[in-house]
Amino acid sequence: MTTEPYLLTPGPLTTSLRTKQSMLRDWGSWDVDFNKITARVCERLLQIVHGTGTHECVPMQGSGTFSVEAAIGTLVPRTGHVLVPQNGAYCQRIARICRVLGRKLTTIDYPQDRQVAAGDVERALTSDPSITHVALVHCETSTGILNPLHEVAQVVARHGKGLIVDAMSSFGALEIDARTTPFDAVVAASGKCLEGPPGMGFAILRRGALERSEGNCHSLAMDLYDQWVYMQKTTQWRFTPPTHVVAAFDSAIAQYLEEGGLAARGARYANNCRTLIDGMTKLGLKSFLPAAIQAPIIVTFYAPDSPHYTFKTFYDAVKAHGYVLYPGKLTTLETFRVGCMGQLGERGMAGAVEAVGEVLAEMRAAA
Ligand SMILES: *Cc1c(COP(=O)(O)O)cnc(C)c1O
Repeated sequence: MTTEPYLLTPGPLTTSLRTKQSMLRDWGSWDVDFNKITARVCERLLQIVHGTGTHECVPMQGSGTFSVEAAIGTLVPRTGHVLVPQNGAYCQRIARICRVLGRKLTTIDYPQDRQVAAGDVERALTSDPSITHVALVHCETSTGILNPLHEVAQVVARHGKGLIVDAMSSFGALEIDARTTPFDAVVAASGKCLEGPPGMGFAILRRGALERSEGNCHSLAMDLYDQWVYMQKTTQWRFTPPTHVVAAFDSAIAQYLEEGGLAARGARYANNCRTLIDGMTKLGLKSFLPAAIQAPIIVTFYAPDSPHYTFKTFYDAVKAHGYVLYPGKLTTLETFRVGCMGQLGERGMAGAVEAVGEVLAEMRAAA
């Protein structure tokens, strides 16, 4: 295979040629035309969650985790107390952020194949009124499980607490409606379902919560309040923006809207996910999660039952057929993951399944 393989990974993922080509120009960070791009990106991100007029979009340099950490550091006062219902590695990362930032933390622990339950969040908030915020991962990318954001948001709002959502791998593909799902922050990044290159994140923040967050942050560079105030005053990013990434993200969002926005993106991923699970099942590979709690974003599969299997040999062989897989993230079970996102070319997910089938045949022939 001499051409680039397709990335079946949950970011970075395969972007379109048009998105790549939009990175061929250098922009000055003070340039009016560049700052118009930033403003357009933020405006459209707000529209995707129906937050125009009630919420603010604040972009942040760095990978997605930088924005999650920035949102927690900015919104949760130093005397705050965060409840993290956890059923995977990204929830655990949020818990770690709270510990590192010195924010008081309580967790509700689930096995990795169990959804967070709104009733458990309700009980935790009732039994400990000192909790100020709940931090929820919408789609747990470590397994692909979907958590019930809307139900949890209703409970959190009823208790008058703040909700911070890591919607990194769902934003733009799964419905989040700020008019009916109350939250203080929804955090995502450029290189996930919106199919831009990696390099910047953003938080959609309820304006009232943002306005009250001055001085909370532990960090100079990661203070979303300061970034917001500076951007409002100057139209510029506070520190050097990832200009090429912003321009490419803008192009990726334009293509997203041309494709038909959230409904079309969600439908494409759902179709990919169906093709993937059906095809892999026919090849004898079993997915880790039951269909009812599987988000159409990334799928965890049990490793092939072959004496020759190691993830590395499987990965290398499938890559030689043109597709890059992703390692599993379960501690006790041998698994691998396949992402449903990105520009998968003409043959789409069917091509990926075919490649896996050929590799399995080769492995069995070698047995
Ligand atoms: C990708 C992702 C992140 C951010 O990871 P980075 O490596 O920092 O980009 C955070 N949460 C979830 C659920 C993700 O899928």
